[in-house]
Amino acid sequence: MTDRSYIPYNEETIVAELVKGGVNSLIATHQINQQRLWDTLMKLGEIGAGSNVTEEGVTRLSLSLEDLKGRQYVIDVMKESGLEVRVDSVGNIIGKLEGANPDAPVVMTGSHVDTVLQGGLFDGALGVLGAVEAIRSIKESGIELTHSIEVVSFTDEEGTRFGTGYIGSKGMSGYLDEKTFQLKDANGITYGEAFEQAGFDPSLYKQAIRQSKDLKAYVELHIEQGKVLEEHELAVGIVTDIQGPVWLEVTLTGHPDHAGATPMNMRKDASLAMAEVMLEVERLATKYQGVGTVGKVKVEPGGVNIIPGKVAFSVDLRHVDKELRTSMVNEVTNAITSISTKRSVKAEVDIKKAVDPATCSSEIVDVIEASCLELSVPTMKLQCGAGHDSLMMTNITNMGMIFVRSKDGISHNPKEWTEKDDCVVGTRVLLNTLVKLAK
Ligand SMILES: [Zn+2]
Repeated sequence: MTDRSYIPYNEETIVAELVKGGVNSLIATHQINQQRLWDTLMKLGEIGAGSNVTEEGVTRLSLSLEDLKGRQYVIDVMKESGLEVRVDSVGNIIGKLEGANPDAPVVMTGSHVDTVLQGGLFDGALGVLGAVEAIRSIKESGIELTHSIEVVSFTDEEGTRFGTGYIGSKGMSGYLDEKTFQLKDANGITYGEAFEQAGFDPSLYKQAIRQSKDLKAYVELHIEQGKVLEEHELAVGIVTDIQGPVWLEVTLTGHPDHAGATPMNMRKDASLAMAEVMLEVERLATKYQGVGTVGKVKVEPGGVNIIPGKVAFSVDLRHVDKELRTSMVNEVTNAITSISTKRSVKAEVDIKKAVDPATCSSEIVDVIEASCLELSVPTMKLQCGAGHDSLMMTNITNMGMIFVRSKDGISHNPKEWTEKDDCVVGTRVLLNTLVKLAK
């Protein structure tokens, strides 16, 4: 546990003087082709887009026809950029720029190009196409590097289609489980079948595992998906920690009596118990300086004149510190037990997901910070609330993340937007970071 776990956002650590003027104020170190970056982002965004992208967004659910087209586009851009491209046994697309010493551990970067239902143009896409642009620029400027750099477009980060994400990065870090291939999508297609349809053999999933000794670092460029950078008028931020989510599925069973004929003191109202639990989730998340959300609720039987006999709801609890998160989860589950006892309802709590939080490598944080200073890019350190492939990659290598400002903090939504200038600045910071790590 570190002191900074208690600080939701490390606001005091703005590492460079605020330099206004965006990209124009940047010193001419390593350049990227700004228009080419933007064109590739927009082009990928056309794949899976509705007729009006700002209304309907982009939908490329993992291994769907749209995702396969998006993946092919990434392969094409990587090849056009002169990268050596291969696809591993779990479908991760890997583009490589060979360094002078092929035996030196690889510097890795990347993200994902699958999306949620009606997602945006930048989530994941910026991390893949920004990385390709950065490496293409390194190649074009003839910069000599010792270490090879690999850009990875990970398979199924979002988990929308089969209910579980980080498939590619789990596969690469050795955390993929055989049972994953039995999961079914809404049409009853198993993950294994989807894999086969896309041309992969699920039984070979372990071939994607990479060894720690072969990797030097993993750096991911990603949109922030929150409002902190915007509030600080900063294009780029440096992630210090990534919160790990725990998902609980709670079922409370009372009795569905008549709403008119049952006096208040004779009720077993599951909905009222849920309401108390919700307030406890808020109180405990605030107490621990984590976050807690009840986002999915089902009330049965759901009649105007019937006391709710059964409720099922989700609880999403996140913290950057694993021990504090465990205490927070324990206190929430204890509260569920005592509230349901008091209200004479039966409680069941199922843990649906538990991903460990991760701390970014301090060495990589320093390298990103040095890159920002060199480029006169004002920046700050902040925590990351969303999950990313970085959470898995941290199991096998040193990990760092560069965040780019999201307009109004909106993400997983057709209105998700990041300005072109901000994409450019983030990509330049990534380029400089990769050069420092791979030189
Ligand atoms: Zn993402």
